[in-house]
Amino acid sequence: MALMVAALVARTAESLANIPERLSEPAVERPYPLPAIETAGDLTLEKLDAAWLEHRIKPGESFFKAMRAMGFEPDTVQSVMGSGKLARSLLDLKPGQVLRARAPGGELEALDFEIDLLNRLEVRRDENGYSAELHTRPTDTKVSQAAGVVTSSLYLSAQQAGLSDKAILELAEMFGWDIDFTQDLQPGDRFAVVYNQVTLDGEKIRDGDILAAQFINRGKTYQAVRYTDPNGKVTVYKPDGRSMRKSFTRNPLPVTRITSRFNPSRLHPIFKTVRPHKGVDYGAATGTPVQVTGDGKVAFAGRQGGYGNVIIVDHGRGTRTLYGHLSRFARSLRQGQSVSQGQVIGYVGATGWATGPHLHYEFQINGQQRDPLTVALPNAQLPDAYTRHFRGQTAPWVAMLNAMTTNQVAQTEATPRQ
Ligand SMILES: [Zn+2]
Repeated sequence: MALMVAALVARTAESLANIPERLSEPAVERPYPLPAIETAGDLTLEKLDAAWLEHRIKPGESFFKAMRAMGFEPDTVQSVMGSGKLARSLLDLKPGQVLRARAPGGELEALDFEIDLLNRLEVRRDENGYSAELHTRPTDTKVSQAAGVVTSSLYLSAQQAGLSDKAILELAEMFGWDIDFTQDLQPGDRFAVVYNQVTLDGEKIRDGDILAAQFINRGKTYQAVRYTDPNGKVTVYKPDGRSMRKSFTRNPLPVTRITSRFNPSRLHPIFKTVRPHKGVDYGAATGTPVQVTGDGKVAFAGRQGGYGNVIIVDHGRGTRTLYGHLSRFARSLRQGQSVSQGQVIGYVGATGWATGPHLHYEFQINGQQRDPLTVALPNAQLPDAYTRHFRGQTAPWVAMLNAMTTNQVAQTEATPRQ
């Protein structure tokens, strides 16, 4: 025991010598103040017994090594690891993380592991050895705002406005249906964002979700709000309740090569007569997954004459889409089943009247085929039942967006032209 205490004194003195340096490192914040020990000379056994030893993990250091460096015996390390599932987090130490231990009389009584700013593992000695508990500190969210003008790139301008990478990505995603961020942006485009900041004791620790955003691209204004419905489902809408996303995607294949367009007076490749082509053919290898273009219900999945293996999906309001010449259907696909936009329903093939593997795709409104490449695709809509709830939730954010825009314009006008 005496040896153990001596080791602890030595370690403590060593760790004391490091304290000023440690305090200047911002990487780890202490969840609670360290007990005050002024100088090594003041160290008495009683004070030592009450003191917490602190050890910062070095690159490549294991829990075992770290505990040995703090002066603990392999048996002790074993018992801590045996305290249950939670102790497994100790096997995944990262450099800079902090272990703190209290060992009155040289026996480990308490071990705290600062996993991150929010989570601390507390291991305590009990009659059976050790037990571990995870303590998570509660965070708050604060509604914040940011705005900027695109100069050289959206990324740089948004970063300057204080947005994190995550928020910038989310912003681009929100307007992805309307603006092609790789091609459409130009200097002078403006953005404004209302977003949540996650805070701990009033300090920001990370960005939360974007609540509302505005993008002015080439003079045209786009706005979007994030709406959480009473069931907790999150959808991005325009402030008037129209969805940002179209209710249909244009193409049923991710990479498209159109081999035959919609053409009411086409010469048929097999029959060599004028036969209207009432869909679009996409050339693709046999087995290429076919994605349904909108939410709906499978109205038919089976074999049908020239179409070969075909799937017809009913989207409601008189709209159907058709997928022909499939080599096979998705395994679980059944008639009457609900499918959602982007879901794989079948695979490209050459069944029916086909000269080679391709997908024949039709878009029908009230039984009439329309050109899938030009037909106006409707936006998905907010269900009527949620209108009031939607307005109550999103109107304050839209008001913030509009106020920011007014400020931006006022600032620009106040700047003398050069
Ligand atoms: Zn065709």
